[in-house]
Amino acid sequence: MKTKHLKVFILLSIAFTSVILAQTYEPGLVYYGRNNYVEYYPGDLALVFTAPHGGSLTPSEIPDRTYGTTVTDLYTKETTISIRDAVFEATGKYPHIIISNLKRIKLDPNREIVEGAQGNQWAEQAWNEYHTFIEIAEDSMEAQYGKGFLVDIHGHGHTIQRLELGYLLSSSTLMRTDSELNTYASTSSIRALAEQSDLSFSDLVRGANSLGALFEDQGISAVPSLFQPDPGEGNLYFSGGYTTSRHGSSGGGNINAVQIEAYRVGLRDTDANRQNYAEAITDVFDEYFRVHYDWDGIVTGVQPEPLVIEGFYLAQNFPNPFNSSTTIHYGLSQKSAVSIIIYDVLGNTVKTIDAGAKHVGTYEYTWNGTNVSGNPVSTGVYFARLQVGEYNQTIKMLYLK
Ligand SMILES: [Zn+2]
Repeated sequence: MKTKHLKVFILLSIAFTSVILAQTYEPGLVYYGRNNYVEYYPGDLALVFTAPHGGSLTPSEIPDRTYGTTVTDLYTKETTISIRDAVFEATGKYPHIIISNLKRIKLDPNREIVEGAQGNQWAEQAWNEYHTFIEIAEDSMEAQYGKGFLVDIHGHGHTIQRLELGYLLSSSTLMRTDSELNTYASTSSIRALAEQSDLSFSDLVRGANSLGALFEDQGISAVPSLFQPDPGEGNLYFSGGYTTSRHGSSGGGNINAVQIEAYRVGLRDTDANRQNYAEAITDVFDEYFRVHYDWDGIVTGVQPEPLVIEGFYLAQNFPNPFNSSTTIHYGLSQKSAVSIIIYDVLGNTVKTIDAGAKHVGTYEYTWNGTNVSGNPVSTGVYFARLQVGEYNQTIKMLYLK
């Protein structure tokens, strides 16, 4: 756990944090805070999407907020769910998703707690759950990948129909020259990326491989970007809010963040448009991770380190997910009797491969998705257990058509 999270945990009431923190979170499932005010879809990618302003619940136990902005960002919950579906469709893995189901007039988790919850205990609890879920997602990404990216999903009603990408850089900061802008890296929500990148900060913000430029490559106008380096004099622009500031890397850590404010018509107003937008976001981050994280897109990320146990190791199968065949690599540091058992989620054995006694060395087994009779299995999750003498190790594999 990062130090900056400690302070927050101390502030939380013991009763509900112990419930949230004691859980294990399985990608593909959904977890709720009290009264379903907040929901968390755990992921297994280095991406988290948050939706603070798309909720619709108006419980009477929480009075209306009396100051601050209370406008709902229409369809941003639906947009965020579409993004989850699109990313899974493309990769077979899930981004982390945190959603506030409370209408913004009851809770604004993208403001600090005083303005966001306005003193009501149930709003404060939902606010705390929302940010605790984000921190659980961040800790999971850091543990799995060492870094990650948070995207805070919003909708704006400004005149100019373009995405407004917020890195905590004000409109007037973006009006500066590239060399002046470069001095703002440490205050931005992509500070960690800037420190690790060979590119200049201004290139990261508005160069050919900036998020804005990648969105424009998809036909979605965005600022800042290569062709729109700043919002322009007198134009309204959102530069990022509480979530981007608290959970991005401006204050340390390896999770970068951006706030994306989307226009409504053509992006988030219909199912079909949300799906197109979600697919564009998937493509943009796939490319972004290739360029800036030096990964093989958002799906593979870094290959997990093989786990070495008692004289052997078993690496994650590759490719994974797979659709025709996948290869399992393993190695032995002493002569051993080896077998591989492939089984399904119900524990039924699909196939047993008795490899016999093997010498020290590295080996591979390629599974073509068939069972013991040679018939193709259905798509889904499978496990491969490597049995070496009395020890075994298991990996999870995803078979997609
Ligand atoms: Zn918003």
